[in-house]
Amino acid sequence: MAELLSMEEALAEILGRAEPLGAEQVPLGGSAVGRVLSSDAEALTDLPPFPSSAMDGFALRAGETPGRFPVTFRIAAGRPASTPLEPGEAMGIATGGVVPDGADAVVPIEYVVDHDNSIEVPDGAALGANVRPAGSDIRAGEVVVSGGTRLGATQIGALAAAGIGELTCGRRPRAALVVTGTELRVPGDLLGPGEIYESNGPMLDAQLRTAGAEVEGHATVEDDEETHVRALREGLESADFVLTSGGVSVGPHDLVRRSWAELGVEEVFWGVAVKPGKPLFFGVRDRVLVFGLPGNPVSSLVSFELFVRPAVLALQGASDPGPRFETGELAAPVRRNPDRDQFLRGNRETTDGLPRIAPLSGQDSHMIARAAAADVLLHVPRGDGEIAGGAPVRFARLD
Ligand code: AMP
Ligand code: MG
Repeated sequence: MAELLSMEEALAEILGRAEPLGAEQVPLGGSAVGRVLSSDAEALTDLPPFPSSAMDGFALRAGETPGRFPVTFRIAAGRPASTPLEPGEAMGIATGGVVPDGADAVVPIEYVVDHDNSIEVPDGAALGANVRPAGSDIRAGEVVVSGGTRLGATQIGALAAAGIGELTCGRRPRAALVVTGTELRVPGDLLGPGEIYESNGPMLDAQLRTAGAEVEGHATVEDDEETHVRALREGLESADFVLTSGGVSVGPHDLVRRSWAELGVEEVFWGVAVKPGKPLFFGVRDRVLVFGLPGNPVSSLVSFELFVRPAVLALQGASDPGPRFETGELAAPVRRNPDRDQFLRGNRETTDGLPRIAPLSGQDSHMIARAAAADVLLHVPRGDGEIAGGAPVRFARLD
């Protein structure tokens, strides 16, 4: 294996080649969740569109309070008054009702004595009290959500409020998944001698979907070169990127790199100074990206989070494709690896201060069952000695 790249170098090589795939129209709604907005979305209206009442109460002129006022109209949400408020008068108003011209405050219902046709307001109201000015949230034409943002429920709510019914989003990348290994059986089948259940396929399929990819092809192949080449060729021809699992190390049955070479895939790098996940392969053919993930299940999991998820997001046009690291405090000392950055599976414990990050026991790269208890990946930069308990550390969340 040639000189190992650092994680940052490897990520830069990948992101430098993960150009956004183009945009498409997506109707606003729950199905837009997780999509990446391609360009800035501008509000079609002021928000609120009119001066709106923040309370159920009475609209009046603040300068006239305290006092007694005839109630000339009762305004409901969506049913504005057709005339302005005259001096000395009040109008009943519901939350979300249009504050009528002439009024400059709303006194909440709890603070008045209601005599049906008139009210008594015992205290003085402040100018503007309980009135939400038009455009106080956002003005028409201003950017509600910036291009490159991945949409969550909050952004979808904001876009809807601003009147936007259709979004321009990055096209979802089409992924082909090729899982290699003669020893692999479908979960549910009986295991023969030397066989294990195929776990990377379902896991990577799930990771791809949560990253916004469409999984077009999903093949499991034996460790045979001809079979590899056939499955990989199909992937190359149908997908925006191809993801393989296993067979990318240095053993005699590791056929993935050889097969890629045969198919004219240019190797960008092979080997990253991370643990787990060292034998990661990355290549390109024309615009198709090719990732070869190591077969050990935890290596596969971690390599995806560090390198493939950011690429899938970048292909959709995300401006911040990650991985997104946060800062925590190490719960217990951890020995560094002199040559490779480690990504340990851990738990995040909430405290008053920084979250405490506790590495799980059982960090071997085959221990996927242990990893199931983790909610973070803890970054242990390479170096000598150990990181002391209580020291600041970086972590990325696992969803
Ligand atoms: P490989 O990278 O192909 O040399 O595989 C490394 C280790 O991971 C071996 O113990 C494999 O049996 C195991 N492995 C490879 N692929 C899978 C998979 N899809 N599911 C579960 N284990 C796997
Ligand atoms: Mg294998």
